[in-house]
Amino acid sequence: MRRSGGNTSAARAVSAKDERAGRDPNRRAGASKPGPAAAAPTALPGGGADDDRDWTPAHALAPGLHVVATPIGNLGDITLRALWVLRGADRILCEDMRVTARLFARFGIDKPLLPYHDHNADRARPGILAMLRAGERLALVSDAGTPLVSDPGFKLVRAALAEGLPVTMAPGPSAAIAALVLSGLPPDRFLFVGFLPPRSAARRRALSAWRNLDATLVCYESPARLAASLADMADVLGDRPAAVARELTKRYEEVRRDGLTALAAHYRQEGAPRGEVVVVVGPPEESAPDDATIDRRLDELLSRLSLRDAAALLAEQTGIARNVLYRRALALQPGARK
Ligand code: SAM
Repeated sequence: MRRSGGNTSAARAVSAKDERAGRDPNRRAGASKPGPAAAAPTALPGGGADDDRDWTPAHALAPGLHVVATPIGNLGDITLRALWVLRGADRILCEDMRVTARLFARFGIDKPLLPYHDHNADRARPGILAMLRAGERLALVSDAGTPLVSDPGFKLVRAALAEGLPVTMAPGPSAAIAALVLSGLPPDRFLFVGFLPPRSAARRRALSAWRNLDATLVCYESPARLAASLADMADVLGDRPAAVARELTKRYEEVRRDGLTALAAHYRQEGAPRGEVVVVVGPPEESAPDDATIDRRLDELLSRLSLRDAAALLAEQTGIARNVLYRRALALQPGARK
């Protein structure tokens, strides 16, 4: 085992969209047991036993902002508590009213919807905060999965917390966690990086910053950019084990597990896959690769790069001296004396 299997999971949400960006500000609120969270000024009034409060009909939904996760495909993944919160809320803040209306139609929920998305969030937030101050019960959902995770909601949660308004959550599905679990890659430490930059140069810069991080990387990617993104990952991170998780929880769910180079070649050949994808990349190898692995990687790099560039790139990836790799690459050239 290369890792100690500790419990220091580091998950961080990074997103290009301002509303979605930043570190997770959530503090657990509404705990009814004594403890650090119970002392928080944002605690919701509780009632009943810990394991049935806040979801059975006997209890009323407390005022405040309720962040609610919804299914990422399979509607069976809605939680009992999510339904209870959505049915008990005065209004639902949602990304796309048509998407949420479809979800509500399936579960017989009829509640006023209020748009809250990237394009109106700054304008809508003051009014929403006023509703919370007035004691309304508001639920926040996104189109699918967990709000705030590459979805709107961060600034609203932050602003509500800053005013000491009650904020709580009905947790549930998130594509990032489902992909991490199914990847077969070490889950004990992972960095969630949201969507990678769409342009190759910026993407490679971002990947370079995470190259030496001893953690599994989880990122969302558009199917159209998947092959190019995987190729950049293979170049910058080296040929690490990885997984592409597609259409999770849906009929055509598929998880393809292979090295980054092979995955890049697969999607270059097959074209953009259908549906939604998450890419999971294993952490860097702890020990330096053996000679056969170095030669295999050099061979692959030499098929598309100059000798100098191939040696430089592999030096960056492995920490092995560039001149050592240059000499090795020279020896691999056709006609070189063995
Ligand atoms: N907040 C959501 C969550 O918690 O999963 C993510 C929203 S983000 C705007 C949408 C991205 O999540 C997609 O582009 C894809 O990368 C990923 N995603 C969402 N649903 C998925 C699914 N069923 N299978 C694979 N990836 C999915």
